[in-house]
Amino acid sequence: MKNHAEKAPRPPQDREQEARGPQAPQAAVIAGLAPEASPDRPGRPRWPLSRGRSADLVAALAEGWRSGLETGIVVYDPAGPGVEVVDAPPYRYHHVPARATRPGARKPWPPPPEGLRLPHAPCPFDDPAFVRQREVARVEREGRTYHIVCNRYPVTPLHFLPVRSADAPPSVLPQHLHGPEEIEDMLLLLDMAGAPYRVYFNSNRGADGSQSGSSVNHWHAQLFPLPPGPASPVFEARPRVLRREGPVEVGAVDGWPARHVVVEAASERIQEVSRALWEEVRKVNDRNAAYNLEAALLPGGRVRAALFPRRHAPDREVPGAGVLSTNFGGWEMSGDIVIPTREILEWIRSHPDEARRLTTRRLEETTRGVPGAPLQSS
Ligand SMILES: [Zn+2]
Repeated sequence: MKNHAEKAPRPPQDREQEARGPQAPQAAVIAGLAPEASPDRPGRPRWPLSRGRSADLVAALAEGWRSGLETGIVVYDPAGPGVEVVDAPPYRYHHVPARATRPGARKPWPPPPEGLRLPHAPCPFDDPAFVRQREVARVEREGRTYHIVCNRYPVTPLHFLPVRSADAPPSVLPQHLHGPEEIEDMLLLLDMAGAPYRVYFNSNRGADGSQSGSSVNHWHAQLFPLPPGPASPVFEARPRVLRREGPVEVGAVDGWPARHVVVEAASERIQEVSRALWEEVRKVNDRNAAYNLEAALLPGGRVRAALFPRRHAPDREVPGAGVLSTNFGGWEMSGDIVIPTREILEWIRSHPDEARRLTTRRLEETTRGVPGAPLQSS
């Protein structure tokens, strides 16, 4: 087990508070990078979503992040002092002490009966000031617009949220996926950002109380580079192929405790990957249960996306150290676990095998198989 003290991260669990934003100073306008300026903010760069890495976009993200830290839009530096990472393969545990400054988001019980489909209600992402103060880049395709903003309470450097524009039809604003085109948009964004960036999507809570780590009911994804270190089998191991659909393989990584389905193909097949993945997402939408999606670019010009359907389970007690909530998601599903307190991190450090067993159980009991997929029991 190795300990690092230099790096940060926290999960793609943005919060209401994250969205609310401070009375932040206006972020620096990014000049000279924009292929095209947005009409409501001169100099604001925007890009059509398309295949291939975009050096301009990557530079705009880096500049937006730098500016976010400088202006205080990003509340703390997730590469700053006190941040600790404990490696206990196949897991990696992250503790970012400054995340404790983030007000908690408690979920009422029972969950709303609408579950995933809880209608969008006015939220902080709708405020015109949100875009004016927070947007670092804008991406668009087929009439859909996403504002890319810094996560105010990041788990790792360069932690961004692509947020669907508030003027989208109200029917597509709730925090779940509505069709293959939304998946394709995020896979194209991933392709433009390039490795080691990854994209994540955490849905609303399900009608059964299953949770995915998301709390703002307004369509948003996550985009950040995975910090270097031991790789997760979810994106490293060869999956067992369940079926092939033309150029696309649908399967699962045997032995990974979080139940899932992976869809993989060459990067030029992003559209086919999105369609195949949507067929799996649709089944979980129909069940009205929460889910997480994570996608990565693999060596050799391939793209792999994993869908993790969630189920409700009680919080997990860490002996004598505290409690780990079941409302987690994002990169935690593939093994980067965010630890809320120093006490729990210290327990993990001194009980690595027990910590591994506890993490495995927590991943098993908060996930279940995709309906109709014979690959994993639920
Ligand atoms: Zn909203």
